[in-house]
Amino acid sequence: MPSVSIDPIDENEFRDASSWSDDPTRQGSYYGLKAKILTWMQCKNWKRIFRHQNFSDTIRGGLFCNSHFGVLQFFHSQASKPNDENTYAVEPYNVTRNKILGWLRFNYEIVLNSELLKLGYCKTFINMRNKSEYGGIDRGFLPADYDHNFFQCSSPTSLQWIYHHKCENPLGSKDCKPIGDTKTYQIAALGAIVHAVQDSYSQSHTKRGECSTSNGKNDSKVNCGAIEQYYNYNAQNSDKHSESDTLPISIDSGCDISSVDDVVTATARILWHVSNETPVNVVMDYLSDTVFKSPYTDETSIPHWGLNESSGACYL
Ligand SMILES: [Zn+2]
Repeated sequence: MPSVSIDPIDENEFRDASSWSDDPTRQGSYYGLKAKILTWMQCKNWKRIFRHQNFSDTIRGGLFCNSHFGVLQFFHSQASKPNDENTYAVEPYNVTRNKILGWLRFNYEIVLNSELLKLGYCKTFINMRNKSEYGGIDRGFLPADYDHNFFQCSSPTSLQWIYHHKCENPLGSKDCKPIGDTKTYQIAALGAIVHAVQDSYSQSHTKRGECSTSNGKNDSKVNCGAIEQYYNYNAQNSDKHSESDTLPISIDSGCDISSVDDVVTATARILWHVSNETPVNVVMDYLSDTVFKSPYTDETSIPHWGLNESSGACYL
């Protein structure tokens, strides 16, 4: 295993960290039926009809809801719900792609330099607003309408808040305490990179080649095509989505000749880069060209998908 900064990483720690994006509030037991009922009750959009703000409308509603349904779905290489609270228009392809790459850059920089974890939360995301290389992820972490009462601005909260903290309520981000140490946070950042990369090979997250079914269920398989579309989880049938999120039944033979790496190779290369402390721009070029490859040569050739089409053919 590579070392992050100076400390070697334990294999179990790394495996645990690679699931951080699914459970960013570190609730641990927050799975199963209880989780399913609560997430559907609390995180989904039904409250809008009473003009309540949804948990997934902004980071105020917590990392958990926003990672799964809201403004932080780039954690999973999916289209985020647009920040405009009153529209659920499909996020354009390049907006999603730039957010994913921005999120990967953000995490890789933390993996290389633990000092960044000490930077102020609000200040960092305010400064990020005119840095295009981060793809606008700041909007996910700091709402456009934040004020001085925003919970991360009124206290000396640092970026380490994002990683490995535990919130009293997984559906809210107000009462959260950091747990773990700098090394834990850096491993979580590496886990977040690997998670987004691996999710990008799930047939239910992006369109690489064609999805397919066997025995009435969606296949989980690895294709090494460029990413034609990032799907919108909010538009998908969550059960059908999950069918493609299991261990892959196959890795397409085209991976041998494709310029896109397969998921195992991509993961190994990232770990290798971390071990070698490869400069961030080199790693970003790799991720942009060889993992998150776009088949579109210019903006005008990118299709605009309607809400139904944004789920992907197998996941409506
Ligand atoms: Zn995921």
